[in-house]
Amino acid sequence: MTTTHQTVDLLIAGGTIVTMDDDGHIYEDGAIAVNGTDIVFVGSRQDALQKLSAKETLDAAGQVIMPGLVNSHTHAAMTLFRGLADDMNLEPWLQRIWAVESQYATAENVGTGSELAFVEMIRSGTTTAADMYWQRDVTTEAAKEAGFRLMCGPSFIEFTGPDGIRPENREAVAHEYLSHYQGDPLISTCVQVHATYSVPTPLLEKARDIALGYDAIFITHASESQTEVKTIVERYGKTPIEYLESLGLLGPKTMLAHGVHLRDDEIRLLAERQTSIAHCPESNLKLGSGIARVADMLAAGINVCLGTDGAATNNDLDMWGEMQTAALLQKGFNLDPTLLPASTALQMATIAGARALGLEDKIGSLKVGKRADIILIDFDQPHLTPLYNLYSHLVYSINKADVETVLINGQFVMRNRQLLTLDEAAIKSKTRRIAKNIFQDCSGIFQPCVYNVAMLDYIWKEKLNVQQNLTGYRRF
Ligand SMILES: [Zn+2]
Repeated sequence: MTTTHQTVDLLIAGGTIVTMDDDGHIYEDGAIAVNGTDIVFVGSRQDALQKLSAKETLDAAGQVIMPGLVNSHTHAAMTLFRGLADDMNLEPWLQRIWAVESQYATAENVGTGSELAFVEMIRSGTTTAADMYWQRDVTTEAAKEAGFRLMCGPSFIEFTGPDGIRPENREAVAHEYLSHYQGDPLISTCVQVHATYSVPTPLLEKARDIALGYDAIFITHASESQTEVKTIVERYGKTPIEYLESLGLLGPKTMLAHGVHLRDDEIRLLAERQTSIAHCPESNLKLGSGIARVADMLAAGINVCLGTDGAATNNDLDMWGEMQTAALLQKGFNLDPTLLPASTALQMATIAGARALGLEDKIGSLKVGKRADIILIDFDQPHLTPLYNLYSHLVYSINKADVETVLINGQFVMRNRQLLTLDEAAIKSKTRRIAKNIFQDCSGIFQPCVYNVAMLDYIWKEKLNVQQNLTGYRRF
Protein backbone atom coordinates (compact mmCIF):
# COMPACT_ATOMS: atom_id res chain seq x y z
CA MET A 1 0.00 0.00 0.00
CA THR A 2 1.37 3.41 -0.87
CA THR A 3 0.50 6.59 0.95
CA THR A 4 0.40 9.87 -0.91
CA HIS A 5 2.32 12.42 1.10
CA GLN A 6 1.46 16.06 0.78
CA THR A 7 4.58 18.21 0.87
CA VAL A 8 4.40 21.26 3.12
CA ASP A 9 6.84 24.11 3.69
CA LEU A 10 7.03 23.76 7.45
CA LEU A 11 6.02 21.16 10.00
CA ILE A 12 6.08 22.15 13.65
CA ALA A 13 6.06 18.79 15.40
CA GLY A 14 5.89 17.79 19.05
CA GLY A 15 4.77 20.05 21.86
CA THR A 16 1.26 20.84 22.95
CA ILE A 17 -1.06 22.68 20.58
CA VAL A 18 -3.58 25.01 22.17
CA THR A 19 -5.82 25.75 19.20
CA MET A 20 -8.28 28.26 20.75
CA ASP A 21 -10.80 26.89 18.24
CA ASP A 22 -14.54 26.75 18.98
CA ASP A 23 -14.26 23.36 20.70
CA GLY A 24 -11.10 24.22 22.62
CA HIS A 25 -9.07 21.43 21.03
CA ILE A 26 -5.71 20.75 22.64
CA TYR A 27 -3.30 18.27 21.02
CA GLU A 28 -0.61 16.76 23.25
CA ASP A 29 2.34 15.66 21.10
CA GLY A 30 0.71 17.60 18.28
CA ALA A 31 1.77 18.97 14.93
CA ILE A 32 0.89 21.94 12.81
CA ALA A 33 1.82 22.34 9.15
CA VAL A 34 2.25 25.52 7.15
CA ASN A 35 2.25 25.97 3.41
CA GLY A 36 3.06 29.48 2.24
CA THR A 37 1.02 31.78 4.45
CA ASP A 38 -1.58 29.23 5.55
CA ILE A 39 -2.11 26.53 8.14
CA VAL A 40 -2.78 23.27 6.26
CA PHE A 41 -2.80 20.77 9.12
CA VAL A 42 -3.50 20.78 12.85
CA GLY A 43 -3.57 17.50 14.74
CA SER A 44 -1.46 14.78 16.27
CA ARG A 45 2.22 14.41 15.39
CA GLN A 46 1.68 10.78 14.48
CA ASP A 47 -1.04 11.70 12.01
CA ALA A 48 1.09 14.46 10.51
CA LEU A 49 4.08 12.18 10.00
CA GLN A 50 1.87 9.69 8.18
CA LYS A 51 0.29 12.24 5.87
CA LEU A 52 2.90 14.92 5.31
CA SER A 53 6.40 15.46 4.04
CA ALA A 54 7.96 18.74 5.09
CA LYS A 55 10.70 20.85 3.54
CA GLU A 56 11.56 21.92 7.08
CA THR A 57 10.62 20.36 10.40
CA LEU A 58 10.78 22.27 13.66
CA ASP A 59 11.00 20.15 16.79
CA ALA A 60 8.69 21.77 19.36
CA ALA A 61 8.96 19.18 22.13
CA GLY A 62 8.43 20.81 25.52
CA GLN A 63 6.80 23.85 23.98
CA VAL A 64 3.25 25.13 23.82
CA ILE A 65 2.09 26.19 20.38
CA MET A 66 -0.78 28.63 20.15
CA PRO A 67 -2.20 31.42 18.00
CA GLY A 68 -0.37 34.75 18.18
CA LEU A 69 -1.95 37.31 20.50
CA VAL A 70 -4.16 40.09 19.17
CA ASN A 71 -3.62 43.51 20.75
CA SER A 72 -6.97 45.07 19.89
CA HIS A 73 -6.16 48.61 20.92
CA THR A 74 -2.84 50.38 20.96
CA HIS A 75 -0.97 53.47 19.83
CA ALA A 76 2.27 51.84 18.73
CA ALA A 77 4.54 54.86 18.33
CA MET A 78 3.70 56.10 21.82
CA THR A 79 6.51 53.84 23.01
CA LEU A 80 8.48 57.09 22.48
CA PHE A 81 6.65 58.63 25.45
CA ARG A 82 6.82 55.64 27.80
CA GLY A 83 7.12 56.96 31.35
CA LEU A 84 7.05 60.59 30.29
CA ALA A 85 3.71 61.62 31.81
CA ASP A 86 2.70 59.27 34.61
CA ASP A 87 0.43 59.46 37.62
CA MET A 88 -2.22 61.81 36.27
CA ASN A 89 -5.78 61.57 34.92
CA LEU A 90 -6.64 61.09 31.26
CA GLU A 91 -7.46 64.73 30.59
CA PRO A 92 -4.25 66.44 31.80
CA TRP A 93 -2.34 63.48 30.37
CA LEU A 94 -3.85 64.13 26.94
CA GLN A 95 -3.04 67.82 27.18
CA ARG A 96 0.60 67.10 27.89
CA ILE A 97 0.97 64.32 25.38
CA TRP A 98 -0.66 66.39 22.63
CA ALA A 99 1.83 69.16 23.42
CA VAL A 100 4.80 66.83 23.07
CA GLU A 101 3.36 65.16 19.98
CA SER A 102 2.94 68.53 18.27
CA GLN A 103 6.72 68.75 18.14
CA TYR A 104 7.92 65.17 18.22
CA ALA A 105 5.38 62.98 16.40
CA THR A 106 7.25 63.59 13.15
CA ALA A 107 7.18 60.93 10.45
CA GLU A 108 10.74 59.85 11.26
CA ASN A 109 10.14 59.60 15.01
CA VAL A 110 6.83 57.77 14.59
CA GLY A 111 8.62 55.28 12.34
CA THR A 112 11.13 54.57 15.12
CA GLY A 113 8.49 54.42 17.85
CA SER A 114 6.44 51.99 15.76
CA GLU A 115 9.45 49.76 15.12
CA LEU A 116 10.16 49.70 18.85
CA ALA A 117 6.55 48.67 19.46
CA PHE A 118 6.83 45.85 16.91
CA VAL A 119 10.02 44.63 18.61
CA GLU A 120 8.25 44.62 21.97
CA MET A 121 5.08 43.00 20.66
CA ILE A 122 6.81 40.27 18.64
CA ARG A 123 9.10 39.46 21.59
CA SER A 124 6.03 38.97 23.78
CA GLY A 125 4.05 36.90 21.28
CA THR A 126 1.70 39.51 19.84
CA THR A 127 1.27 39.02 16.11
CA THR A 128 -1.56 41.47 15.35
CA ALA A 129 -2.31 44.95 16.65
CA ALA A 130 -4.98 47.53 15.92
CA ASP A 131 -3.17 50.84 15.88
CA MET A 132 -4.51 54.39 16.13
CA TYR A 133 -2.02 57.21 15.72
CA TRP A 134 -0.64 60.07 13.67
CA GLN A 135 1.47 59.37 10.54
CA ARG A 136 -0.32 56.07 9.94
CA ASP A 137 1.37 55.55 6.57
CA VAL A 138 4.74 55.42 8.30
CA THR A 139 3.54 52.92 10.93
CA THR A 140 1.84 50.82 8.27
CA GLU A 141 4.96 50.63 6.12
CA ALA A 142 7.06 49.82 9.21
CA ALA A 143 4.66 46.96 10.01
CA LYS A 144 4.97 45.57 6.48
CA GLU A 145 8.74 45.80 6.71
CA ALA A 146 8.68 43.97 10.06
CA GLY A 147 6.29 41.33 8.75
CA PHE A 148 3.84 42.33 11.48
CA ARG A 149 0.05 42.12 11.03
CA LEU A 150 -1.55 45.51 11.57
CA MET A 151 -5.03 46.95 11.49
CA CYS A 152 -4.77 50.64 10.87
CA GLY A 153 -6.73 53.38 9.21
CA PRO A 154 -7.38 57.06 8.86
CA SER A 155 -8.10 58.81 12.17
CA PHE A 156 -10.41 61.76 12.55
CA ILE A 157 -9.78 64.51 15.11
CA GLU A 158 -10.86 68.11 15.35
CA PHE A 159 -7.50 69.80 14.95
CA THR A 160 -4.55 69.75 12.59
CA GLY A 161 -2.15 67.31 14.16
CA PRO A 162 1.57 66.74 13.83
CA ASP A 163 0.88 64.93 10.56
CA GLY A 164 -0.08 68.35 9.13
CA ILE A 165 -3.46 67.09 7.86
CA ARG A 166 -6.21 69.66 8.37
CA PRO A 167 -9.60 68.34 9.52
CA GLU A 168 -11.20 69.29 6.18
CA ASN A 169 -8.59 67.24 4.31
CA ARG A 170 -8.93 64.09 6.38
CA GLU A 171 -11.63 62.68 4.11
CA ALA A 172 -9.41 62.74 1.01
CA VAL A 173 -6.51 61.27 2.95
CA ALA A 174 -8.82 58.57 4.29
CA HIS A 175 -9.85 57.48 0.79
CA GLU A 176 -6.22 57.39 -0.30
CA TYR A 177 -5.20 55.14 2.60
CA LEU A 178 -8.22 52.86 2.44
CA SER A 179 -7.95 52.22 -1.28
CA HIS A 180 -4.17 51.83 -1.21
CA TYR A 181 -4.15 49.01 1.36
CA GLN A 182 -7.20 47.07 0.16
CA GLY A 183 -6.31 43.38 -0.10
CA ASP A 184 -2.88 43.73 1.51
CA PRO A 185 -1.84 40.39 3.06
CA LEU A 186 -0.66 41.97 6.33
CA ILE A 187 -2.54 45.24 6.59
CA SER A 188 -6.26 45.43 7.36
CA THR A 189 -7.95 48.79 7.16
CA CYS A 190 -10.40 50.52 9.46
CA VAL A 191 -11.78 54.01 10.04
CA GLN A 192 -11.03 55.64 13.38
CA VAL A 193 -12.36 58.59 15.27
CA HIS A 194 -10.32 59.69 18.26
CA ALA A 195 -13.33 60.22 20.54
CA THR A 196 -16.74 61.88 20.66
CA TYR A 197 -15.26 64.78 22.67
CA SER A 198 -12.49 65.53 20.17
CA VAL A 199 -14.51 65.21 16.96
CA PRO A 200 -17.56 67.35 16.12
CA THR A 201 -20.73 65.69 14.79
CA PRO A 202 -20.28 66.50 11.05
CA LEU A 203 -16.78 64.99 11.04
CA LEU A 204 -18.04 61.96 12.94
CA GLU A 205 -20.80 61.49 10.36
CA LYS A 206 -18.26 61.79 7.57
CA ALA A 207 -16.08 59.11 9.18
CA ARG A 208 -19.15 56.88 9.60
CA ASP A 209 -20.06 57.22 5.91
CA ILE A 210 -16.51 56.42 4.82
CA ALA A 211 -16.44 53.33 7.04
CA LEU A 212 -19.78 52.21 5.58
CA GLY A 213 -18.54 52.84 2.04
CA TYR A 214 -15.56 50.55 2.54
CA ASP A 215 -17.41 48.09 4.80
CA ALA A 216 -14.57 48.82 7.24
CA ILE A 217 -14.32 48.34 10.99
CA PHE A 218 -15.07 51.57 12.88
CA ILE A 219 -13.02 52.26 16.01
CA THR A 220 -13.25 55.00 18.62
CA HIS A 221 -12.46 55.60 22.30
CA ALA A 222 -15.73 55.65 24.25
CA SER A 223 -16.85 56.07 27.86
CA GLU A 224 -13.27 55.90 29.09
CA SER A 225 -13.50 58.42 31.93
CA GLN A 226 -16.28 59.96 34.01
CA THR A 227 -15.20 63.41 32.80
CA GLU A 228 -15.67 62.28 29.20
CA VAL A 229 -19.19 61.00 29.90
CA LYS A 230 -20.05 64.21 31.76
CA THR A 231 -18.67 66.34 28.91
CA ILE A 232 -20.74 64.54 26.26
CA VAL A 233 -23.91 64.54 28.39
CA GLU A 234 -23.50 68.30 28.88
CA ARG A 235 -22.90 68.88 25.20
CA TYR A 236 -25.44 66.56 23.57
CA GLY A 237 -27.78 65.49 26.38
CA LYS A 238 -26.66 61.91 25.71
CA THR A 239 -23.94 59.62 27.01
CA PRO A 240 -21.19 58.73 24.50
CA ILE A 241 -22.91 55.36 23.88
CA GLU A 242 -26.34 56.99 23.33
CA TYR A 243 -24.75 59.61 21.12
CA LEU A 244 -22.97 56.99 18.97
CA GLU A 245 -26.24 55.03 18.76
CA SER A 246 -28.11 58.16 17.60
CA LEU A 247 -25.62 58.51 14.75
CA GLY A 248 -26.05 54.87 13.71
CA LEU A 249 -22.51 54.10 14.79
CA LEU A 250 -23.14 51.03 16.93
CA GLY A 251 -23.09 47.74 15.07
CA PRO A 252 -21.12 44.52 14.55
CA LYS A 253 -18.42 46.42 12.66
CA THR A 254 -17.79 48.85 15.51
CA MET A 255 -15.18 48.34 18.20
CA LEU A 256 -15.13 50.73 21.14
CA ALA A 257 -11.97 51.13 23.16
CA HIS A 258 -12.43 51.10 26.97
CA GLY A 259 -16.17 51.24 27.77
CA VAL A 260 -15.32 51.80 31.44
CA HIS A 261 -18.42 53.75 32.46
CA LEU A 262 -21.46 51.90 31.14
CA ARG A 263 -24.97 51.65 32.58
CA ASP A 264 -26.94 48.39 32.48
CA ASP A 265 -29.07 49.60 29.55
CA GLU A 266 -25.95 50.61 27.61
CA ILE A 267 -24.45 47.15 28.12
CA ARG A 268 -27.70 45.61 26.83
CA LEU A 269 -27.66 47.95 23.83
CA LEU A 270 -24.04 47.13 22.95
CA ALA A 271 -24.84 43.41 23.18
CA GLU A 272 -27.87 43.86 20.95
CA ARG A 273 -25.85 45.82 18.39
CA GLN A 274 -23.05 43.20 18.56
CA THR A 275 -20.54 45.98 19.14
CA SER A 276 -17.16 44.83 20.47
CA ILE A 277 -15.36 46.39 23.42
CA ALA A 278 -11.57 46.55 23.59
CA HIS A 279 -10.88 46.31 27.30
CA CYS A 280 -7.61 47.99 28.36
CA PRO A 281 -7.45 47.33 32.11
CA GLU A 282 -3.91 48.49 32.86
CA SER A 283 -4.33 51.82 31.10
CA ASN A 284 -7.69 52.34 32.83
CA LEU A 285 -6.12 51.63 36.21
CA LYS A 286 -3.05 53.77 35.63
CA LEU A 287 -5.06 56.79 34.50
CA GLY A 288 -7.45 56.28 37.39
CA SER A 289 -10.27 55.97 34.85
CA GLY A 290 -11.96 53.08 36.64
CA ILE A 291 -12.69 49.40 36.21
CA ALA A 292 -14.77 48.28 33.23
CA ARG A 293 -17.72 45.97 33.93
CA VAL A 294 -16.24 43.15 31.88
CA ALA A 295 -17.98 40.33 33.75
CA ASP A 296 -21.35 42.03 33.12
CA MET A 297 -20.47 42.65 29.47
CA LEU A 298 -19.48 39.02 28.94
CA ALA A 299 -22.65 37.84 30.69
CA ALA A 300 -24.68 40.06 28.35
CA GLY A 301 -22.97 38.47 25.36
CA ILE A 302 -20.69 41.33 24.30
CA ASN A 303 -17.54 40.36 22.41
CA VAL A 304 -14.89 41.75 24.78
CA CYS A 305 -11.31 41.70 23.52
CA LEU A 306 -8.11 43.04 25.06
CA GLY A 307 -5.74 45.87 24.31
CA THR A 308 -2.74 47.39 26.02
CA ASP A 309 -3.52 50.94 24.88
CA GLY A 310 -0.33 52.93 24.23
CA ALA A 311 2.93 52.53 26.13
CA ALA A 312 2.48 56.03 27.56
CA THR A 313 -0.41 54.86 29.75
CA ASN A 314 0.37 51.19 30.42
CA ASN A 315 3.50 51.38 30.28
CA ASP A 316 4.28 48.28 28.19
CA LEU A 317 2.70 46.33 25.36
CA ASP A 318 2.58 42.99 27.16
CA MET A 319 -0.68 41.14 26.45
CA TRP A 320 0.10 38.43 29.05
CA GLY A 321 0.14 41.04 31.78
CA GLU A 322 -3.08 42.46 30.36
CA MET A 323 -4.78 39.06 30.48
CA GLN A 324 -3.77 38.49 34.08
CA THR A 325 -4.83 41.98 35.14
CA ALA A 326 -8.19 41.59 33.38
CA ALA A 327 -8.91 38.28 35.08
CA LEU A 328 -7.79 39.33 38.57
CA LEU A 329 -9.61 42.65 38.45
CA GLN A 330 -13.03 41.14 37.80
CA LYS A 331 -12.58 38.58 40.57
CA GLY A 332 -11.34 41.06 43.16
CA PHE A 333 -13.66 43.90 42.26
CA ASN A 334 -16.79 41.71 42.20
CA LEU A 335 -15.71 39.54 45.16
CA ASP A 336 -16.23 36.49 42.94
CA PRO A 337 -13.25 34.32 41.88
CA THR A 338 -15.36 32.41 39.34
CA LEU A 339 -15.59 35.46 37.09
CA LEU A 340 -13.35 35.76 34.00
CA PRO A 341 -11.61 32.36 34.19
CA ALA A 342 -8.22 31.91 32.52
CA SER A 343 -9.71 30.33 29.38
CA THR A 344 -11.90 33.41 28.88
CA ALA A 345 -8.95 35.77 29.33
CA LEU A 346 -7.07 33.80 26.70
CA GLN A 347 -10.03 33.96 24.31
CA MET A 348 -10.18 37.74 24.79
CA ALA A 349 -6.51 37.99 23.76
CA THR A 350 -6.92 35.78 20.69
CA ILE A 351 -10.19 34.87 18.97
CA ALA A 352 -12.29 37.69 20.47
CA GLY A 353 -9.73 40.19 19.20
CA ALA A 354 -9.82 38.59 15.76
CA ARG A 355 -13.64 38.81 15.79
CA ALA A 356 -13.64 42.47 16.86
CA LEU A 357 -11.30 43.34 13.99
CA GLY A 358 -13.35 41.37 11.46
CA LEU A 359 -10.45 38.94 11.03
CA GLU A 360 -11.90 35.77 12.61
CA ASP A 361 -11.71 33.89 9.32
CA LYS A 362 -7.94 34.61 9.16
CA ILE A 363 -6.47 34.67 12.66
CA GLY A 364 -7.21 34.17 16.37
CA SER A 365 -7.13 30.35 16.43
CA LEU A 366 -5.07 27.55 14.92
CA LYS A 367 -7.31 26.10 12.25
CA VAL A 368 -6.76 24.76 8.75
CA GLY A 369 -7.28 27.55 6.22
CA LYS A 370 -6.30 30.36 8.59
CA ARG A 371 -3.09 32.36 8.27
CA ALA A 372 -0.07 30.93 10.08
CA ASP A 373 0.24 33.43 12.96
CA ILE A 374 1.75 31.03 15.49
CA ILE A 375 3.76 31.40 18.68
CA LEU A 376 5.89 28.79 20.43
CA ILE A 377 6.35 29.09 24.18
CA ASP A 378 9.06 27.39 26.22
CA PHE A 379 7.23 25.60 29.04
CA ASP A 380 10.41 24.14 30.59
CA GLN A 381 10.49 26.95 33.15
CA PRO A 382 10.42 26.84 36.95
CA HIS A 383 7.41 29.18 37.06
CA LEU A 384 5.52 26.85 34.67
CA THR A 385 6.22 23.69 36.69
CA PRO A 386 4.30 21.51 37.49
CA LEU A 387 1.68 21.67 34.78
CA TYR A 388 -1.92 20.72 35.57
CA ASN A 389 -3.80 23.22 33.45
CA LEU A 390 -2.45 24.96 30.36
CA TYR A 391 -4.87 27.89 30.43
CA SER A 392 -3.97 28.57 34.05
CA HIS A 393 -0.24 28.85 33.30
CA LEU A 394 -0.85 30.90 30.16
CA VAL A 395 -2.72 33.52 32.17
CA TYR A 396 -1.47 33.38 35.76
CA SER A 397 2.14 32.18 35.60
CA ILE A 398 3.71 32.95 32.24
CA ASN A 399 6.42 35.49 31.61
CA LYS A 400 6.48 37.32 28.26
CA ALA A 401 10.09 36.23 27.75
CA ASP A 402 8.94 32.58 27.62
CA VAL A 403 7.83 33.21 24.03
CA GLU A 404 10.62 31.71 21.92
CA THR A 405 9.50 31.65 18.33
CA VAL A 406 6.95 33.67 16.39
CA LEU A 407 5.53 33.26 12.89
CA ILE A 408 3.31 35.81 11.20
CA ASN A 409 1.61 35.03 7.89
CA GLY A 410 3.81 31.93 7.60
CA GLN A 411 7.05 33.86 8.06
CA PHE A 412 9.42 33.50 11.00
CA VAL A 413 9.82 36.92 12.63
CA MET A 414 11.51 35.58 15.78
CA ARG A 415 13.29 32.28 16.17
CA ASN A 416 14.75 31.11 19.48
CA ARG A 417 14.43 34.70 20.77
CA GLN A 418 16.36 36.11 17.78
CA LEU A 419 14.43 38.77 15.89
CA LEU A 420 14.68 38.23 12.15
CA THR A 421 13.04 41.29 10.63
CA LEU A 422 13.95 44.12 12.99
CA ASP A 423 17.31 45.50 14.15
CA GLU A 424 16.55 45.84 17.84
CA ALA A 425 19.87 47.44 18.85
CA ALA A 426 19.60 50.14 16.18
CA ILE A 427 15.95 50.84 17.03
CA LYS A 428 16.70 51.21 20.74
CA SER A 429 19.60 53.52 20.07
CA LYS A 430 17.49 55.71 17.70
CA THR A 431 14.74 55.82 20.35
CA ARG A 432 17.19 56.96 23.04
CA ARG A 433 18.38 59.80 20.80
CA ILE A 434 14.78 60.96 20.26
CA ALA A 435 14.06 60.67 24.01
CA LYS A 436 17.06 62.83 24.82
CA ASN A 437 15.74 65.59 22.57
CA ILE A 438 12.24 65.28 24.02
CA PHE A 439 13.55 65.47 27.54
CA GLN A 440 15.87 68.40 26.95
CA ASP A 441 12.95 70.27 25.48
CA CYS A 442 10.31 68.88 27.80
CA SER A 443 9.15 72.18 29.21
CA GLY A 444 6.31 71.69 26.72
CA ILE A 445 4.99 68.79 28.74
CA PHE A 446 4.22 71.01 31.65
CA GLN A 447 2.45 73.74 29.73
CA PRO A 448 -1.10 73.64 28.40
CA CYS A 449 -1.63 72.09 25.00
CA VAL A 450 -0.33 74.25 22.18
CA TYR A 451 -3.28 73.56 19.89
CA ASN A 452 -5.38 76.66 19.61
CA VAL A 453 -8.73 75.03 18.97
CA ALA A 454 -12.27 75.37 20.20
CA MET A 455 -11.88 72.09 22.02
CA LEU A 456 -9.93 73.85 24.75
CA ASP A 457 -13.02 75.91 25.57
CA TYR A 458 -14.89 72.92 26.88
CA ILE A 459 -12.35 70.25 27.58
CA TRP A 460 -11.88 69.57 31.27
CA LYS A 461 -10.89 73.05 32.34
CA GLU A 462 -10.99 72.10 35.96
CA LYS A 463 -8.28 69.50 35.49
CA LEU A 464 -5.67 71.47 33.61
CA ASN A 465 -3.80 72.72 36.64
CA VAL A 466 -1.83 69.63 37.47
CA GLN A 467 0.98 70.08 39.94
CA GLN A 468 4.34 70.22 38.29
CA ASN A 469 6.33 67.30 39.53
CA LEU A 470 9.77 66.56 38.18
CA THR A 471 10.75 64.08 40.89
CA GLY A 472 12.31 60.95 39.50
CA TYR A 473 12.94 62.24 35.99
CA ARG A 474 16.28 61.30 34.60
CA ARG A 475 18.78 64.03 33.80
CA PHE A 476 20.21 63.39 30.36
ZN1 LIG B 1 -6.33 54.50 23.26
